[in-house]
Amino acid sequence: MISDADLIDRFRGHMLSRDNAAHFRGRLDHQLLIDRCAECGVWHHPPAPACPACWSMSITPTAVSGTGTIHLVIFLHQHAPIPGFDDAMPYPVVTVELDEQPGLRFTGTMVGAANDDVVIGRRVRLDWIDRDGEPVPAFRLAEVAA
Ligand SMILES: [Zn+2]
Repeated sequence: MISDADLIDRFRGHMLSRDNAAHFRGRLDHQLLIDRCAECGVWHHPPAPACPACWSMSITPTAVSGTGTIHLVIFLHQHAPIPGFDDAMPYPVVTVELDEQPGLRFTGTMVGAANDDVVIGRRVRLDWIDRDGEPVPAFRLAEVAA
C-alpha cells in the first residue's frame, strides 16, 4: 500500500482526507470503494466518518459492482483547465444511482457514448480512464441484451 504522502501526490487535484483516503487508494486498483456501515449495512458517499443512518463509526470502504442507472445529466460547455483533459465539448457529467442501494449516487463522466444517448434512465457500468496518469472512474452505457 502506498504511503499517504504518495497518495496525495498521485491525486493532486483532489482534497484528500482521512475519510476519503481509502476511496482514492481503491482508484489506483480500479476499484470503486464506497463507504458501507459495518453495523447496519447502509452505504454512503461521499466518504464520512460516521454512518448517516445509525451514526456508527464502523465504516468499511467496500467495492461496488459499478452498475447503475443515470439519475442526472449535465453537459459542460466550458470548464477550468484540467491536466490531461482534451475531451470534446460539450462534456457529459452524469450522476449514477448505483444498484447497491436506492439513493446511493456517484458522479463521473461518460465514455464511448454519443451525447444524444446519455439520458436519464439509461443503464450504465463502471469503467476507468487515465487522465495524466490518474485513474478516473467513468461510466459506459451497459450493453443491450441481444
Ligand atoms: Zn449504520
